[in-house]
Amino acid sequence: MYTTKNISLKLYHSFASNETTSDFSIITSQNDIVAISNWSKQNDKPLLILGSGSNVLFTKHFDGMVAKMELMGIKKISETPSEVVLEVGAGENWHYFVCYCVQKGWGGIENLSLIPGTVGASPIQNIGAYGAEAKDTIKNVIAYDTINEKWEIFTNQACNFGYRSSLFKSEKNRYIISHVHFTLQKQPTLKTDYGVIREVLHERNIKNPSLVDISNAIIQIRSEKLPDPKKMGNAGSFFKNPIISIDQFEQLKTEFPNMIAYPITDTTYKLAAGWLIEACGWKGIRNGNVGCYAKQALVIVSYGIESGKEVYEFSESIIQSVIKKFGITLEREVNVIN
Ligand SMILES: Cc1cc2nc3c(=O)[nH]c(=O)nc-3n(C[C@H](O)[C@H](O)[C@H](O)COP(=O)(O)OP(=O)(O)OC[C@H]3O[C@@H](n4cnc5c(N)ncnc54)[C@H](O)[C@@H]3O)c2cc1C
Repeated sequence: MYTTKNISLKLYHSFASNETTSDFSIITSQNDIVAISNWSKQNDKPLLILGSGSNVLFTKHFDGMVAKMELMGIKKISETPSEVVLEVGAGENWHYFVCYCVQKGWGGIENLSLIPGTVGASPIQNIGAYGAEAKDTIKNVIAYDTINEKWEIFTNQACNFGYRSSLFKSEKNRYIISHVHFTLQKQPTLKTDYGVIREVLHERNIKNPSLVDISNAIIQIRSEKLPDPKKMGNAGSFFKNPIISIDQFEQLKTEFPNMIAYPITDTTYKLAAGWLIEACGWKGIRNGNVGCYAKQALVIVSYGIESGKEVYEFSESIIQSVIKKFGITLEREVNVIN
């Protein structure tokens, strides 16, 4: 296992701030996972698993082991006339995996094209976009339980998936995911419910879209809407869309009739956090080296921050103004490391 000491994390996460870590290693096998967990216990230092760092915000020096997941491999483990089950190493690039499936004609994750990150992180917050979520295709998650010191296979149900949440996110840093099993469909039903997907297909004069067409449409939509982390540091949506009760929604709706909201259950509504932030006047606002992205208020961008603390403080100002105007507390989707 490769390890080193006292390095900057700048190259390892998408906000690209300059925090350091006292210890750093690269994981390429399940044995490395056990070794790194033992190291953390023997040295009494915290352990942080990093995929490609596209959903983390470092706010100070990390006095512990940052272990970058590079366990690779895509293997077919079973197949029927209608489905295929794949075992994928946690370090595989998510978008590469999507393209691999799309090219093979296996459907289920094409709407999740171009989401940055690794396969191992996909169950952590149950990544989702354009009407699809990782949980729709995840069959099992194989993870090392660092508390009980044993390997576990979690079925989809045991993962406790929710909106940008899972068992692995709520039991922070307890489990290290080595592999994920996905069930893909050979005759998939394409998800084109989102108006913007239909618009792009229409523009391209595509009447009977294939998996490749859907994936390409999503890539176009995302490239136009979201900042490229290689050019402008960010972590995608910084906040979750808040879920509120129907009573609270109806009260707010009378005061703010244009508010964007979707019914989730008979008693709850999901609000568009981007709309709330924009309504507080933040869209396109820059404060020093941090700003609220001009094309999408849910994204906080860096104009060359030295420390993630600057982003954290900016996000706190947004949270406070949304509380003041709407009485709603936004929750950060990004994993703040402090
Ligand atoms: C431009 C942009 C757009 C985005 N769009 C979306 C989107 O549409 N939908 C969406 O859901 N997300 C989106 N995100 C967020 C991000 O892409 C996802 O959360 C992604 O899954 C993070 O993967 P990662 O490998 O970079 O994880 P990291 O940022 O490295 O880690 C995220 C968390 O998972 C933990 N972790 C990572 N790997 C493992 C592992 N193997 N075992 C245990 N714990 C692990 C880390 O400790 C950390 O807590 C976007 C981000 C960016 C920058």
